[in-house]
Amino acid sequence: MADPDTGGETPCSCKVSTVATDCGLDDVHAELRQAWERSDGKSVRELAAEFNRRVLSAAFADAGRLPIDGELDNLYRVLTDDDVDEGSRTRAREQLRQDGIDVEAVEERFISHQTLYRHLVNCLDADQETATRTDAERIETWETRLRALQNRTENVISQAISQLRNSETIEIGSYDVLLDVNVLCEDCGTFYTLSEFLDERACECQNPSDEE
Ligand SMILES: [Zn+2]
Ligand SMILES: [Zn+2]
Repeated sequence: MADPDTGGETPCSCKVSTVATDCGLDDVHAELRQAWERSDGKSVRELAAEFNRRVLSAAFADAGRLPIDGELDNLYRVLTDDDVDEGSRTRAREQLRQDGIDVEAVEERFISHQTLYRHLVNCLDADQETATRTDAERIETWETRLRALQNRTENVISQAISQLRNSETIEIGSYDVLLDVNVLCEDCGTFYTLSEFLDERACECQNPSDEE
């Protein structure tokens, strides 16, 4: 099944992978990981529900049954939501059987958010830290990295000047190298120093309703 050229590798043999392979969702792993790690990412719970709706969708496709708009969402809710009464669930299952869908097999394939969490962290090595960090923590991490990069750059420039001075290629007394990094907003032409910009987090010209 593995096809490295399309990114559709099976990363592990846990339930998520097995079900994904069975349902023809080989590409789902990279998607899951990205969706979870993104800063505005979805919760593991939401992603597990999405995955399960795709499992349900695959079962419909296998049975040659085309779901009507919103049907899968509603059906998934009826099958899994604790607030749904048992009568509705029984009727939904019966309807699925009549449509030629092995509802027990489908329900067995549903994954819990715990199972998905383990798949993300253990099998896909997804970065839980990135996914749960706040904006402020994310900015701080980058500020530290960038400050280190800035210091290294300043040192390299100092060394260059010092070597050139030693070879008497250039002349200078005592000196210091100061590196300023600016961010230019190309939409409105405003210049910020990097730290100003990271403090502000958005240019003034950007949608004011985004401000807190
Ligand atoms: Zn896995
Ligand atoms: Zn701007």
